[in-house]
Amino acid sequence: MKKIFEIKDLKFYEEEFLDNIEDYDDVIPIIQELSLELNYEEIETVGNNDCCNMTNKNYIVEIPGFLDKEDNFITKDEAEKLTEESEMSLSLFVIRIYKCRECNKWIIDILE
Ligand SMILES: [Zn+2]
Repeated sequence: MKKIFEIKDLKFYEEEFLDNIEDYDDVIPIIQELSLELNYEEIETVGNNDCCNMTNKNYIVEIPGFLDKEDNFITKDEAEKLTEESEMSLSLFVIRIYKCRECNKWIIDILE
């Protein structure tokens, strides 16, 4: 299988991605670049996961950040170092990755 990135001991394979990976061409490199610093948590969602309907347990990785005027991704930590003026021009962009604990399928969810 083709590994896209890994976060701690979790591996994310292209074959287990539930959407069309090409739609996330701009987001995947951001995750790959930050992957060494990222961590995951365990959450339970309301109702079972659609992928396998076996569990409501998921791993979640959250990358809080922003897009600047040129659509470059800036992490929350980086944004805090900016001047107030450049901070004003940022728009919210949070990347969330959910991975099913039963079947390992995963999705990316963007909050803008
Ligand atoms: Zn599943």
